[in-house]
Amino acid sequence: MPTAIKILPPDLIGKIAAGEVVQRPASVVKELIENSIDAGATNITTIIRDAGKSLVQVVDDGIGMSEEDAILAFERHATSKIETLDDLEDIRTLGFRGEALASIAAVSQVELKTKLPGMDVGTLVKLDGGELKEVTKTAMESGTSLMVKNLFYNTPARKHFMKSNATEFKHIYEAIQRLAIARPEIGFRFVSEEEPILDLRPSELEERLTTLFGEKPVKALLPLGEEGEVYRLSGYLGKPEFARKVPSEQFLYLNKRFIVNRNLNHAVYSGYEHLIEKGSYPFVLLFLQIDPRRVDVNVHPTKLEVKFEDERGVYRFVMMAVRRALSSHNLFPGIAIEGEAAGEGERLRFERAGFPTAARVGVLHQLGSSGAEMQAKLVGNVGSELETVETLKREMKGRVSSPFRPMSQIQNKYILLEIDSGIMLVDQHAAHERVLYERVLPRLEGEAEKSQQLLFPQTIELSLAEFVTVNELAPLLEKIGFQIKIFGKQTIVVEGVPPDVKPGQEASIFSEVLDEFRDDARNPSSEIRDRVARSFACRAAIKAGDKLSVQEMGALMEQLFKTEVPSVCPHGRPVSIKLSIEELDKRFGRT
Ligand code: ADP
Ligand code: MG
Repeated sequence: MPTAIKILPPDLIGKIAAGEVVQRPASVVKELIENSIDAGATNITTIIRDAGKSLVQVVDDGIGMSEEDAILAFERHATSKIETLDDLEDIRTLGFRGEALASIAAVSQVELKTKLPGMDVGTLVKLDGGELKEVTKTAMESGTSLMVKNLFYNTPARKHFMKSNATEFKHIYEAIQRLAIARPEIGFRFVSEEEPILDLRPSELEERLTTLFGEKPVKALLPLGEEGEVYRLSGYLGKPEFARKVPSEQFLYLNKRFIVNRNLNHAVYSGYEHLIEKGSYPFVLLFLQIDPRRVDVNVHPTKLEVKFEDERGVYRFVMMAVRRALSSHNLFPGIAIEGEAAGEGERLRFERAGFPTAARVGVLHQLGSSGAEMQAKLVGNVGSELETVETLKREMKGRVSSPFRPMSQIQNKYILLEIDSGIMLVDQHAAHERVLYERVLPRLEGEAEKSQQLLFPQTIELSLAEFVTVNELAPLLEKIGFQIKIFGKQTIVVEGVPPDVKPGQEASIFSEVLDEFRDDARNPSSEIRDRVARSFACRAAIKAGDKLSVQEMGALMEQLFKTEVPSVCPHGRPVSIKLSIEELDKRFGRT
């Protein structure tokens, strides 16, 4: 072991520091676009090749740089955005640490072209592994183009740690999406392998969201707006019934900077209260505005984390704002007005079409028909939104007596039954989930299930990442009754669905199943089959809030008690709670 302390050579220091800012191609995309935004650009184009591994280029029409600045920009701690400690306390730009370009340049080959408005020619600067190689004049439009080639070419270990192209692409897509949502007034274009992926023209927020997520889902969002003395909050909340099983569609911004903050996330979920099940995540888009002096964004080089001066104050503010927004839309059963609440319930059931994943750009447009129209298009399903329950009813027929006597449905959520030993409360969603799960699992092992043909097959566009997943899962999805055709790049057509799928839900169930696979680290121990079965069961099952008739309840109970594990749902939550007569007697003092 050498014992003498040595100062590291500058190029090694550069590579070490780069690791903090540049973790993957998406980090380069994020840093370059942020620079373009700070430079006042109105149009920003991102071009990638090989999922950013061989090329990331960001072109803007912002203020540009002089030749002198173009060279200085690659020095560590070189920034035009702050000068004094006072400035650091009052950050109004996305950048300020002066690290990004130096870090990126240290681990790649960079070509910067930039021109100030009013100048005849621009400057071309080339660097290789952080070393300045060339400075020349170049003819170009005003603005800046930064080309980053062969990322991590000189740091083999980092290069090795990059994930598959599908994964890196997904990260880049998400990075651009996050920035584009915060700045609808800026046009964003995204091109991968010469193919246009996104073309977002400058617009209002609602239009931007519509282009990204589809018209119908965006229409179904609940707007939120709240002004306090210190904080201002605006944005949109997804209705609880569109909640998904992965926390992927949470967009939290602080002063237009995308952040990750557990405290605020928790505040949002507390605001939803019992409206969502544990482990489901509603779509959330919130812009929090606060005086920059009351928050520290300089916690981490990527600036994803922030520290609030008053963590509790901001928590309370966000929770109350969310609660108020939801309750003003009559979503809290407890405070809903009778007549209206019933009407709302009906409508929600029809509209439960699910929120599309981000990348399914514009598809829901195509499917833009109303829930009822969509149903009418489905063979054999016209007018029956509770087809699953119909199936249950049929199966109920012919069974003479049941040891379970259904009594009543509580809050359209729990079923209260009298059983021989006392009473039992059953969670209707969890119960149906268990039934469907056990029905689907054997299909995955054996013969493919007959599928229900759709009169009008549905076209779904997928991101590259999703497309890869679909390809991988196709055989399993077919076994449970989906009929899919893969059409060229990233387009699939759903031609049939399993018989348990409720009309109007075809697209959403499909995307939920895909969601389960998006985050592989989430449940690495479970088998793929199991995850397919579980996510399908969860989405196809009746929900809390669905009104059931006595027969429907009876049929559900019959089926539940024929399953192998009637007491827990596939996610591990309890399905039922029992109270024995002895227990009741004891409580009433009848010993
Ligand atoms: P920071 O953004 O924290 O200041 P960077 O390393 O990202 O640090 O950028 C260094 C400097 O280069 C910026 O402060 C800015 O002056 C200049 N710069 C970078 N990108 C652009 C751009 N697209 N247009 C104009 N100036 C830019
Ligand atoms: Mg920057």
